[in-house]
Amino acid sequence: MCTTCFENEIEQFDSANDFQLFEIKLEQKLKQKDGLFFFRQGAETELISYTIYACKSCNSKWYLHLPNSLSLGFLLYEVNAKLLLNKIKASDTKRRTITMIISFIIMLICLFVLADMV
Ligand SMILES: [Zn+2]
Repeated sequence: MCTTCFENEIEQFDSANDFQLFEIKLEQKLKQKDGLFFFRQGAETELISYTIYACKSCNSKWYLHLPNSLSLGFLLYEVNAKLLLNKIKASDTKRRTITMIISFIIMLICLFVLADMV
């Protein structure tokens, strides 16, 4: 546990208000010298982008995903964020594959119907 960065992970923000309170705390922490700093931006899929902050005091990396219309957002340690992002990526790939298979079947049906009409 490090008081310079964050004491706990946030699996999801409860509300927009909850996130606003967090943002104020984050800004204060970023202003402190030798504390938390912006590390880099990242994106796993078009659906999920995040900001990585690192802590000079404990060397932890924190992944912050901002709440949007699809998700409530999270603040996780690097290792847990990577696990979650991999899970999201895998389900996204699965969803794309299923969409492609369905499109292909619809195309085949259309072709059969058309062939029947000729
Ligand atoms: Zn820290």
